[in-house]
Amino acid sequence: MVRDRPQHSEPYVGRFAPSPTGDLHFGSLVAAVGSYLQARARGGRWLVRIEDIDPPREVAGSAARILGDLRRYGMHPDGEVLYQSTRADAHAAAIAQLLAQGDAFPCACTRSMLPASGVYPGTCRARSVTVSTPGSIRLRVDHGPIAFTDRVMGRHAQDLAATVGDFVIRRSDGLPAYQLAVVVDDAEQGITEIVRGADLLDSTPRQMLVHRRLGLTPPRYLHLPVAVNPDGSKLSKRLRSDPVNLTDPADGLAAALRFLGHAPPAGLDLARLWEWGHAHWDVARIPSRPTIAFCPDTLKH
Ligand SMILES: [Zn+2]
Repeated sequence: MVRDRPQHSEPYVGRFAPSPTGDLHFGSLVAAVGSYLQARARGGRWLVRIEDIDPPREVAGSAARILGDLRRYGMHPDGEVLYQSTRADAHAAAIAQLLAQGDAFPCACTRSMLPASGVYPGTCRARSVTVSTPGSIRLRVDHGPIAFTDRVMGRHAQDLAATVGDFVIRRSDGLPAYQLAVVVDDAEQGITEIVRGADLLDSTPRQMLVHRRLGLTPPRYLHLPVAVNPDGSKLSKRLRSDPVNLTDPADGLAAALRFLGHAPPAGLDLARLWEWGHAHWDVARIPSRPTIAFCPDTLKH
């Protein structure tokens, strides 16, 4: 077996950062298990952050239920859980810094003024919009690729000017955008490697740019495959909660390990499964496809 070797001498800090928009489901369980085992394999710390900066989308009680499920599964964070909603001052300070540096600008465009392509054409860059005008704040992007090498998915590059345009860092409702808050809080928690689902692969270049503009060094990235329906569509809540019995942690953990390319022996209890996972975790086994059709039968415990 090829063992991962640390590339840096810095202490490893990983994290799991769910949004409290619903209960733990198979996709979030895979991200939790992957980030947890990777942190343990590196002799590092594993932190949990609740990304509760979008109150309109929040489901009451789901943060507590997610944290309860993590405990039931035997995944205990090495430190206090960080709630993003407590970080409003830090998010605002970062936005103020980007505005002061000239890297960000207020945008008063209404939805109907934005092109169907979704690529922001820079309309408000040169308009005399002030921060007190109702609207959003966008980060200025440049032409040219932002590239990184993902530890599982390999080389990934994106030209933000061509594909996204100047993007929102503060929403028109005054809330910090996900792309801004995630960077500020990963820096606060000292995260050295981000392990998460490949549905966020395309967010990574934007987040790397925010890191750079704030004078921070981006962490390393490891994106895990995401379960989809056989036709490639997103798993519905009903489907993703049905096939794997997440109420039995041994079943759920075995299914997550199998999904991540590992093959624990059948019939192990939860403690033995974790022992097996710690002994056999190998990044090289993780499938390097961003999506995998979900076949519950192959994941049975
Ligand atoms: Zn605008």
